[in-house]
Amino acid sequence: MYDLILRNGHIIDPRNGRDGIGDIAFRDGKVAAVGGKIAGASRATKDATGRIVTPGLIDLHAHVYNLGTSLGVDPDHVARISGATTLVDAGSAGAGIFAGFRRHVIERCRTRVLAFLNISHPGIFGFGAPINVGECQDMRLVHAGECVRVAREHPDLIVGVKVRIGDNVSAGIRPLEVALEAARELKLPLMTHIGRPPPSIEAIAGLMQTGDILTHCCRPAPNAPMLTDGAVCGEYLAARARGVVFDVGHGAGSFGFQTARAMLAAGFLPDTISSDVHQASIRGPAYNLLVTMSKFLNLGVGIADIVRQSTAGPAAAIGRPDLGHLDVGAIGDATVLDIESGTFTFTDAIGETVTGERQFAVAARIVGGTLADDHVEAAAD
Ligand SMILES: [Zn+2]
Repeated sequence: MYDLILRNGHIIDPRNGRDGIGDIAFRDGKVAAVGGKIAGASRATKDATGRIVTPGLIDLHAHVYNLGTSLGVDPDHVARISGATTLVDAGSAGAGIFAGFRRHVIERCRTRVLAFLNISHPGIFGFGAPINVGECQDMRLVHAGECVRVAREHPDLIVGVKVRIGDNVSAGIRPLEVALEAARELKLPLMTHIGRPPPSIEAIAGLMQTGDILTHCCRPAPNAPMLTDGAVCGEYLAARARGVVFDVGHGAGSFGFQTARAMLAAGFLPDTISSDVHQASIRGPAYNLLVTMSKFLNLGVGIADIVRQSTAGPAAAIGRPDLGHLDVGAIGDATVLDIESGTFTFTDAIGETVTGERQFAVAARIVGGTLADDHVEAAAD
């Protein structure tokens, strides 16, 4: 007896090379069968005819320490509107406040929340208008040992270390070096924010190692990765060659259509699409993961690539092979999407608009083998 069967959807599962019509069955929180027409009884079924079924979407860069930090947004709300089943918090909390994030938010919400631990002890504490104080501007707050100690207390939740580097957020490049030290000791990836210089893109990308993640990779100038002739800078190419992961992290100020178009024209597809959703980006320009995915759709990226960038890509980046795909035995998370037709306007972080004719919309989410937001349409069959 299955718990749920999704019937007749267009399954797009890039990690397993699946792209066709079929059913998916869930049991005990996991994917139990996938293929053409699945026989056998099920407690519930949902018809997905005419819709796309993807592995549960993973937003690799979100800020969901809701009410505990000034930039946090509600994880369940964000997940529902974006179709995400896993949200990875990108360093809202540092070692000093992670226990509260766990107890008051992560353990109480219905969304799967994982986290990068900020190398700065208080996490992102001074973010907003009119106050903007970078958590890595004072090196007394930046401590590898405390980061390692607390990360080891929460190995089920912490998937990496986060650092923000830029002229108004960090004391130069030094916090990145300390964060790298912590990440290597933990054998976890480091996610680095790149902001306004200094430090330069060359200095930042040059320090990143295999498996580390550079977020805000499509940022507008300054520190955009494009040369004047439109080519991608050598530091990006060298970093990719040694296995650095390139993440979108749209946010309020970190995504430019001009940069993204040039990167795509040069064949440099980001490895992961993420929203950097927070209090100052959730009402635009980022909105959420799904809107960010729709921007890439209207820049000409194929649907299977976009699905990979928001499922298998982020799962690999955080070392979670049980997420981001729909093979038997994987965690039973899936997202059912529609592609709406019409005239839609998208805006980047510096006010450029792109008009497109398609956008993604969420039809349903399956979290741990159960329909999360939608009504079950039929009883057991
Ligand atoms: Zn962020």
